Amino acid sequence: MNNEFLDKFARNDVVIKTGNIVIDMKKDKLIIAGPCAIESYEQLLDTALFVKKSGANVLRGGAFKPRTYPESFQGLGDEGLKILKQVKQEVKIPVITEIMDVRDLEKIIEAADIIQIGSRNMQNFTLLKEVGNQEKPVLLKRGLSATIKEWIGAAEYIANEGNTKIIMCERGIRTFSDYTRNTLDLSAVPIIKKETGLPIVVDPSHSTGIRYLVKPMSLAAIASGADGLMIEVHPHPEEALSDGTQSLNFEEFSTLMESIQKI
Ligand code: PEP
Ligand code: MN
Repeated sequence: MNNEFLDKFARNDVVIKTGNIVIDMKKDKLIIAGPCAIESYEQLLDTALFVKKSGANVLRGGAFKPRTYPESFQGLGDEGLKILKQVKQEVKIPVITEIMDVRDLEKIIEAADIIQIGSRNMQNFTLLKEVGNQEKPVLLKRGLSATIKEWIGAAEYIANEGNTKIIMCERGIRTFSDYTRNTLDLSAVPIIKKETGLPIVVDPSHSTGIRYLVKPMSLAAIASGADGLMIEVHPHPEEALSDGTQSLNFEEFSTLMESIQKI
């Protein structure tokens, strides 16, 4: 981390544009919501309509899923991207999806308004350089056990290729504390702002792994100065093909949004 690098980031303005929708991260909060994985057209469409109505401004949905075990649902792949494009057009909401393989870059650029680099790929330097070489904003999740300095190093890989439209995402780190799926490190919010000037959003879903913790941690994230949230929402969390235990149902999501609007 050197001063020249920090200056480069401090001047950066992340603006997400799609059609006539503009999200300017200097003034707008980024509320990303949607299922962990795209499971069907109906599932994504219902979720998109609901989260948009409740105040989310970006729809999430994984087509290529990084799963710990090969027997777990791996995502619908290309079919998932097709559904994502269709729902985006019908609902008129910007979308984010994760890239796992550089060979998918072109089709992900075509489908997504924000490209997500997941935790497990935070130090996939080839992938970081490739997303740095194109123009779509990139959401960079903190690695499973990455220090803040390593995480900023990963952002630097992207920025060095020319793309400074980077949104950092704190999603919890692995610690000895195993009651929750990960340990949410909220101090990362003011630290990233001070060290890089980049916007930072918090993912209370993956950082806790437990549904009832999503609301209190979302409120804490906003209070700490976060520029937004990424929240998993599913029409029927108990039937979700991935991450059901941390996904909110529609009613829980709308209650959360009401509380956020109050603060
Ligand atoms: C996700 O957001 O879909 C995801 C896999 O999260 P993470 O990379 O933070 O584990
Ligand atoms: Mn998930």
